[in-house]
Amino acid sequence: MEKKYLYETHLHTNQGSACGNNTGREMAIAHKEAGYSGIIVTDHFFYGNTAVDRSLPWQDWVHQYCAGYRDAKAISKEIDLDVFFGWESGYNGTEFLVYGLDEDWLINHPEIKDATVEEQLKLVHAGGGIVFQAHPFREEYYIPEVRLFPEYVDGIEVFNGSNKWIDGRDLFNERAKQYAEQYDFPVTSGSDIHCNVPIGSGVAFDRRMADIQDFIEHLMRRDCEMVKVSKFA
Ligand SMILES: [Zn+2]
Ligand SMILES: [Zn+2]
Repeated sequence: MEKKYLYETHLHTNQGSACGNNTGREMAIAHKEAGYSGIIVTDHFFYGNTAVDRSLPWQDWVHQYCAGYRDAKAISKEIDLDVFFGWESGYNGTEFLVYGLDEDWLINHPEIKDATVEEQLKLVHAGGGIVFQAHPFREEYYIPEVRLFPEYVDGIEVFNGSNKWIDGRDLFNERAKQYAEQYDFPVTSGSDIHCNVPIGSGVAFDRRMADIQDFIEHLMRRDCEMVKVSKFA
């Protein structure tokens, strides 16, 4: 591999995600030890598998939701690991990774909570962020149907390290790759990691990323490499 600086693009903590197993701090340390240059914390958002009480006032909900990110960020300098913020929105099982915005933006844009997929893209773009569909062909109990929104995303998660295999084949990821190629979408790879035993997937760059905007710019101009390691390989 030419590009050596690996970033986890899809990561959950137990502070933001009900299905998470470890704190942001534990996730940061584990990924540093596994050789990553950075992680993007993408906990399940309001209509996904959030760990945070949905009856809280919006500002309090957002603040608690961001706890896993803040926890990872707090140790980032000490362990020399880049820690960026994102989220994984949920629309009845269809999920999107959003990059480029932050806690303040969320607090000031409560309309993002109930935005349609179309409105989500408009709002996120207006704030300077991007939307990628996560694992678009995953089939699971919590996903009643596969739905695609090519008009309303900037790109596709073309490899998800936690996608199950069917009859010994990585079919859901194979389909995602075909879909992205047909539409010539920018792509990401991520582990969808929920515990502190890193899988090893991610996106690699030729240098450290200065911030999440630097990450976005590299992603959108395809100046990166997909690192694809499956939990089921
Ligand atoms: Zn999860
Ligand atoms: Zn996820």
